[in-house]
Amino acid sequence: MVLIRKNALKFILNASKRTYPREFIGLLRGGPDIIEEILLIPRSLFGDNFSVIEFNMKPIDPSIIGSVHSHPSHSYEPSDADLRFFRKMGFIHLILKYPYQSIEDIATYDMNGNRLPLHVLEDVVNIKKDDDPRNPWK
Ligand SMILES: [Zn+2]
Repeated sequence: MVLIRKNALKFILNASKRTYPREFIGLLRGGPDIIEEILLIPRSLFGDNFSVIEFNMKPIDPSIIGSVHSHPSHSYEPSDADLRFFRKMGFIHLILKYPYQSIEDIATYDMNGNRLPLHVLEDVVNIKKDDDPRNPWK
């Protein structure tokens, strides 16, 4: 099971809506199974289509655990290019599909393209945000 902070979830839904009909791309940062925050990747690195990405840079930051991108369609199935990218970029990968309304529009995959369950951290564990020293949103 992969957990995502509510703020990170809102962020990727909004970023996908704002970027539509283009694809939003980011990197996931957090603990082994918790998505804490999103790092935006400048569009200049990627061009207009995720499928043409040549992304040879491995993240130096060990807190980078995977990637997120949106599809401008009703499908969140990974393409062959997505799967190649997954294997290079960590072990948790999110794909959002239109209309980016809720967690139901997000699919989570491991590096081999197998689906993983995704839950909002705040819904699963009752953590007081101010007591959590790892909380980056304070
Ligand atoms: Zn894709």
